Amino acid sequence: MNVSENTFNIPQISNEQYELVESSNPVLHTATEKFNFSDPPIHPVELYNILGNKLREHDGLGLAAPQLGLPYNFFVIRSDPVQGFFNANVVDTSEEEVILEEGCLSYPGLVLKVKRPKLIRIRFSDPEGNTKTAKYQDFTARIIQHEIDHINGIVFSDRVSRLSLEMAIKKTNKKGYHYKIGDFYAR
Ligand SMILES: [Zn+2]
Repeated sequence: MNVSENTFNIPQISNEQYELVESSNPVLHTATEKFNFSDPPIHPVELYNILGNKLREHDGLGLAAPQLGLPYNFFVIRSDPVQGFFNANVVDTSEEEVILEEGCLSYPGLVLKVKRPKLIRIRFSDPEGNTKTAKYQDFTARIIQHEIDHINGIVFSDRVSRLSLEMAIKKTNKKGYHYKIGDFYAR
């Protein structure tokens, strides 16, 4: 691991113990609290490294801390280097919305068509705790909105109708998966 100097004096944890949690795990369906940089529950740079490594390992586009069972307001997206976002909030969106196909590491094989704004402006903190605002569009805006949903306890199946979820499940199960519509409404 490549963890910078531990300025927060928090015990370091090996990233080996973190794996993707089951989609039914309550941590995936519970909003996280704001990450407190003055009393952090985990070193922010260590959290960044844990998620960045897992994102690369799974060849994902984005990964949020709750997907690893970590109830923190943080996610990463694929870029070079991996970009990390703490306490991200959408502060503005375009009126124009687009329908795009989304996948999720927490729901292997499942592809859903989700409608979201084409363009967003977000405010967030980087792993050093600096507050920033940035504008994203198209595919990157899509990934970020999906990840912000995760930190708010929302998963992509919450964003589609029951009918389109049923159709997507049928299609996915033909490829050997075993999704059940009831599992998405059991919570
Ligand atoms: Zn996801």
